[in-house]
Amino acid sequence: MKLEALVKPSVLTQPVYEPGKPIEDVARELGLDPATIIKLASNENPWGPSPKAVAAAKVALEHGELYPDGGCFKLRQKLAAVHGLGADQYIVGNGSNEIIELLGHVFLGAEDEVVFGGPAFVVYKLVTLLFGAKVVEVPLKDWRHDLDAMTRAITPRTKLVFVASPNNPTGTANGAAELAAWARALPEHVVAIFDEAYAEYLAPETAMDLRPLIAVGRKVIGLRTFSKIYGLASLRVGYGYAGAELVALLNRVRQPFNVNAIAQAAAVAALDDREFAEKCARENRAGLTQIETGLKALGLEWVPSVANFMLVKVGDGARVFGALQARGVIVRPVKVYGLPEWVRVTVGTPAQNERLLAELATATRR
Ligand SMILES: *Cc1c(COP(=O)(O)O)cnc(C)c1O
Repeated sequence: MKLEALVKPSVLTQPVYEPGKPIEDVARELGLDPATIIKLASNENPWGPSPKAVAAAKVALEHGELYPDGGCFKLRQKLAAVHGLGADQYIVGNGSNEIIELLGHVFLGAEDEVVFGGPAFVVYKLVTLLFGAKVVEVPLKDWRHDLDAMTRAITPRTKLVFVASPNNPTGTANGAAELAAWARALPEHVVAIFDEAYAEYLAPETAMDLRPLIAVGRKVIGLRTFSKIYGLASLRVGYGYAGAELVALLNRVRQPFNVNAIAQAAAVAALDDREFAEKCARENRAGLTQIETGLKALGLEWVPSVANFMLVKVGDGARVFGALQARGVIVRPVKVYGLPEWVRVTVGTPAQNERLLAELATATRR
């Protein structure tokens, strides 16, 4: 009997996530010196992690023989102290992606529907399909979530609705007041997930505050990550915050030691280094301006972004991606998001942005 005959049908049809290529892979494939390659493909922090987070991770590694605290007690205490809410209103995951999967475990079966924007972060679709549920993709309007159309797409079978603000791959955000009013008006039978992976890059007054909705018992959850502004993508740590009842359900379906001790220690220290995160946000705003100025000079179109990346219209996205990569600049082709004419570029250091613009000039010249 073929192995395939034993496999659940949803696994055989499951699309495969294609991550941004690691620098080492590109260096090997193209015979380039890794030191000359820059990766602006996965929205990683070009300033790295806070030195305080690195120091805390090293200390934690000294006790690598011990299992981690499965409940992430210190990190949840720290999150409660920094953001408010009770420690029992936070769940920590192996990246916020794990929490998206936990939501699938808790809520999704073959009868259910999941609503999200198109294009939006691809993991919503992958998790929906993994649990055999139905994808309901609502096209963006002017590059933003069309919240009214998303509400209209909700049926009695809808369980989950995802909104990423800022969204990936667009870098655009919906307004805080608009999002809050929309969330308040959602029907009782859906859980709304607000993916806030890039929230720390927003000006505080433009970021939505979910806490008042959580306080009145609405079925909402916010997702945040240490992978972006905190520069800890390799350690895999993110968190969700919601009512204690929802958090308890998610805890039931997670692995006992889902987040390692090194990541937990680094995350606590990262939250303590407010100055570092603020510096990264400031540098990012300057970087966005630098890239926009350069793109304007090149006559290229872009989607104005409030995140740490942006979409740039280059004509043939696959060709320009290849041409940039051959010259040691890794960006992200976004054909999988239905945007074959665009690439997504992460904001780098000023020198990296300059290099990106120079290579873009060459790669798009015809
Ligand atoms: C990068 C990103 C995440 C973060 O995922 P982690 O698993 O925490 O690394 C989540 N949502 C969106 C929209 C992202 O772009």
